[in-house]
Amino acid sequence: MRLIHHPILCNYYVTYRCNASCSFCDIWERPSPYVTLENAERNLTDLKRLGVKVVDFTGGEPLLHRQIDELLALAKAKKLITTLTTNGLLYPKYAGKLRGKVDMLHFSLDSPIREEHNALRGVACYDSVLESIRVARKLGERPDILFTVFDHNIGHIEAIWKNICLPDNLVLILNPVFAYNAVQTGGGLSESSLTTLSWWGKQKNVYLNQAFITLRRNGGNDPAKPVCRAASSTIVISPDNHLVLPCYHLGLETIPIGDNLYEIFQSDEVKYWIAQEGRLPQCRGCAINCYMQPSFAVEMNQYWWQALPSTLKYSIAKQTWKQLL
Ligand code: SF4
Ligand code: SF4
Repeated sequence: MRLIHHPILCNYYVTYRCNASCSFCDIWERPSPYVTLENAERNLTDLKRLGVKVVDFTGGEPLLHRQIDELLALAKAKKLITTLTTNGLLYPKYAGKLRGKVDMLHFSLDSPIREEHNALRGVACYDSVLESIRVARKLGERPDILFTVFDHNIGHIEAIWKNICLPDNLVLILNPVFAYNAVQTGGGLSESSLTTLSWWGKQKNVYLNQAFITLRRNGGNDPAKPVCRAASSTIVISPDNHLVLPCYHLGLETIPIGDNLYEIFQSDEVKYWIAQEGRLPQCRGCAINCYMQPSFAVEMNQYWWQALPSTLKYSIAKQTWKQLL
């Protein structure tokens, strides 16, 4: 049963550029402009009118955008919930300007071993993440640690949780790796890793969407009976101000937004892609967290129920529920 009939999330790509080159991501290879404040202001107004609650300012590395603080401020002024994930390289430099503007601030950290994290990210950013935590705490921010889980690093969860998260009362978000396009992500997670992850999801200060695990055990999205609601639940905006459909990872169509996101989102072209969400041949087995999370939120099914406890746990820990009232 569909519970919410409007989009709830916007993945706003402020640039595709990145100062890292992670082995499990290809976005940093794309040439890219930066979104303009003028376009963003109009789009944020329309996002609000369309019912969007959360704007994820993403990239690439979002802190490469020199006006990221102004973009965040525009979203906050429209009472949108903001989220941003950074590799930490630029956070210490801009932390003061960002203070109070990011509701869900995530620092990516995939290993407690400096050399291993840096190798995975393709750049020496481990020390910057630790420095970012220190600076953020000093400013009164409460960042989360976003840990992308592979079979090869799952054994490191405990060290990050014990030594980095618990001392500062930070939430550890476990993000099971997903495969897409031709990017080598390690072929998914083994059954034993999924079991281990489920256990970790029940621990203090750990956030894991249990529905991610169930979806993997069920073989991912099935085009004959899709769980994906990417195009109807999530609006994807590119740095050159196009709507990307049905999701960023497929990107089968891009529509110029101009100054009219509100009308365009209700056009026949967008309706066509909404009808295709999760039903395309490429959608078989898909488990892309960025779209499954909002998909689970808009439709009541087994995934909705499984996602509920972790959603509540995080909202209570971070007090984000207050902003939805
Ligand atoms: S930091 Fe993020 S955007 Fe940049 S290469 Fe890594 S995963 Fe991709
Ligand atoms: S199933 Fe995956 S690839 Fe297909 S539309 Fe949804 S998010 Fe995109």
